[in-house]
Amino acid sequence: MLVEFKVESNKRTQFIDITSKVEKIIKEQNAQNGCCIIFIPHTTAAVTINESADPDVCQDMEYKLDDLIPWHDNYRHREGNSAAHIKSSLIGSSEKVIIDGGKLLLGTWQGIFLTEFDGPRVRKVKVKIVND
Ligand code: ZN
Repeated sequence: MLVEFKVESNKRTQFIDITSKVEKIIKEQNAQNGCCIIFIPHTTAAVTINESADPDVCQDMEYKLDDLIPWHDNYRHREGNSAAHIKSSLIGSSEKVIIDGGKLLLGTWQGIFLTEFDGPRVRKVKVKIVND
């Protein structure tokens, strides 16, 4: 089963919690046991799992990634968004989560985030469910 949904960012760098959207797909597809792959088919956005309880964690990650990889630097790429490409590769384009008893087996504080690095844009998220 492959499902796609869209996410709209409103800032250049932004972590967007997509956990509830992935959980909704698991429920709609009636997936019980297996795993799901969350894949971002873009070169300037990515996906990661990190703390969703305190929004300051994502703000700190946005801040530090922008600090480490500045928008303007001695880049060659003519489109002018090399910083976004670099951050996207560092974070990665996919995550895997175990599905157990119809639920995502995430830790108490974990959430799934689309990480926008060249927003605002509309992004696609692909979710592939693999049943046991
Ligand atoms: Zn580019």
